[in-house]
Amino acid sequence: MSAKKVTLQDLKKIVGGLEKDSEQSIGIYFFKKYRIQISKYKSSGTERYMRLYKNRRAQGRCIRCGKKIIRRNPLTGTLYRLCDYHRQITDRKKR
Ligand SMILES: [Zn+2]
Repeated sequence: MSAKKVTLQDLKKIVGGLEKDSEQSIGIYFFKKYRIQISKYKSSGTERYMRLYKNRRAQGRCIRCGKKIIRRNPLTGTLYRLCDYHRQITDRKKR
């Protein structure tokens, strides 16, 4: 990504683009003696999914639907990752 020299007017447009969630605003800009970088923060679907997964897991909720889990795995004593419903359909797929 190459840096672009911008004017205050350009900067306003860039910020305006951010408000509309436009990826067009992503870039590196030079304004006066400043370097302004606009990039995405934790943006990929996988990262978002992993965060959701971790949160739900930590709260003892089904990682698919977020339903509170009450059952524990009798072998390990830990809560199941999935609610009854999702555990059932996931198990069925395996067979
Ligand atoms: Zn579920």
